Amino acid sequence: MTAPAASKTLFEKIIDREIPGDIVFEDDHCVAFRDINPGAPVHILLVPRKPIARLCDATADDQALLGHMMLVASQIAEQEGYGDAYRLVVNNGAAAGQSVFHLHLHIIAGRPLKWPPG
Ligand code: AMP
Repeated sequence: MTAPAASKTLFEKIIDREIPGDIVFEDDHCVAFRDINPGAPVHILLVPRKPIARLCDATADDQALLGHMMLVASQIAEQEGYGDAYRLVVNNGAAAGQSVFHLHLHIIAGRPLKWPPG
């Protein structure tokens, strides 16, 4: 008997077009779509197709993927018109604000961004 397939994450369902998403970029490794509850004029989530739950669950095998995502994030910020002023955020774990357990980079831009973040 085979084990039942693990249920898909919310973001896998968006990637697979099972639920709607405003997709702005995709390639063989990752997909980016607009956050449903944006915290800035530009608020895009960049998600690897591989369902890594949290950044701390990534392994050395994911090194190229993670580097690729950084470069894609920069490209998306440029595409959105904010190539020289954007912020990337990864919330790792519930106590750090993570609510969807499929690794994602928040790409935030389009307003002044204070430091430190809340
Ligand atoms: P985090 O809290 O870091 O896990 O970020 C999860 C993000 O996913 C939040 O900013 C949510 O607004 C966003 N989000 C939740 N559901 C959706 C959805 N269906 N489409 C797009 N973004 C979503």
